[in-house]
Amino acid sequence: MIADINRYLPFAEALRCALDGERPALSWLVPLLTCAEADAPALYRAAEAVRAAHVGDDVHLRGLIEISNYCRRDCAYCGVRRGHEGVVRYRLSPDEIVETAQHIQALGYRTVVMQSGEDMWFTAERMAEVIRRIKATTDLAVTLSLGERDAETYRQWREAGADRYLLRIETTDPALFAALHPDDDLEERKACLYTLRELGFQLGSGVMVGLPGQTPEILAGDVIWLHELGAEMLGVGPFIPHPATPLGDAAGGTVEATLRLVAVLRLVFPYAHLPATTAMGSLHPQGRERALQAGANVLMPNITPPRVRGHYALYPGKVFPGDDAVAARAQIIAHIDAIGRTVSDGHGHVRRVACQEEMKDAHTE
Ligand code: SAM
Repeated sequence: MIADINRYLPFAEALRCALDGERPALSWLVPLLTCAEADAPALYRAAEAVRAAHVGDDVHLRGLIEISNYCRRDCAYCGVRRGHEGVVRYRLSPDEIVETAQHIQALGYRTVVMQSGEDMWFTAERMAEVIRRIKATTDLAVTLSLGERDAETYRQWREAGADRYLLRIETTDPALFAALHPDDDLEERKACLYTLRELGFQLGSGVMVGLPGQTPEILAGDVIWLHELGAEMLGVGPFIPHPATPLGDAAGGTVEATLRLVAVLRLVFPYAHLPATTAMGSLHPQGRERALQAGANVLMPNITPPRVRGHYALYPGKVFPGDDAVAARAQIIAHIDAIGRTVSDGHGHVRRVACQEEMKDAHTE
């Protein structure tokens, strides 16, 4: 697509629209997402001011367990896609998941995030039982990231006590979504998010940055759609090509482009929880710290049992905390401290913001 530059505001005006809480529009999102290197510090500073004013200096830590790398899908970008035969597949048992969650609580985390490929072995009932056992034996908030399932399954998981659900839309551009997902459907993925929202889950979504064929206009369109959805947690990271996938030779995303998106999301969603993602840390040693200094306020340390961790290889170069989870936590807290931030001691539930008008008020408070 050839951009019509007359549609786009100069950087300073675009930033003003964001700070005024204007409804997200291409005219100001695109200039912010593509801003010059010289303008980026002003964008990050603005995002940091909004972050500090609305969600404060706390960083929320979520203990992540990657419970299975079996997947029924064949997403073109993903290292654990069904068609990748080189993957050593693993699935944690319900007992091991519950024990790991209890370990996460003992380490001092207040949220467990359970993520997996779309592994149908975890039926609605099996997973509901895992959730119930975690809720009965810990005080953890429970976040799920288990992909697309039917509404009845989501309902059972919610009734079992799950608090939050993360399901990235990946891209809202129909042609790009179709090219990346040979066995998936954009409207069905959207429908999953609407169902999750309806069921009262705290709702997380997001996209990858630097997908082949993704333009700034597409990314801006994603932001607009996520805003209409009312997402409350926004996870974004650079696309990192995996050599054993159809996109192995693609260029991939950059830390710089992703930081711009993190900052824009903070401006558009003042109260949201924004993780500094593992993909950011995998692309650059300071990637996550830089995201925390561009509007992010969540970290998700990987507490997957070390014996299987390496097999959840979505992309090459994925970073892990050390195998000693106590030392790893201390190190993470030291890093947070070093950038002048604090570690939240609460569950870190999202603050619900009802409508656009409230968002606008939030900006002008
Ligand atoms: N199956 C669940 C789902 O689809 O939501 C959760 C697991 S999925 C592997 C988690 C996320 O990993 C995806 O939403 C995608 O954005 C990200 N991911 C997969 N491959 C990636 C890659 N090559 N580079 C960066 N992120 C990737």
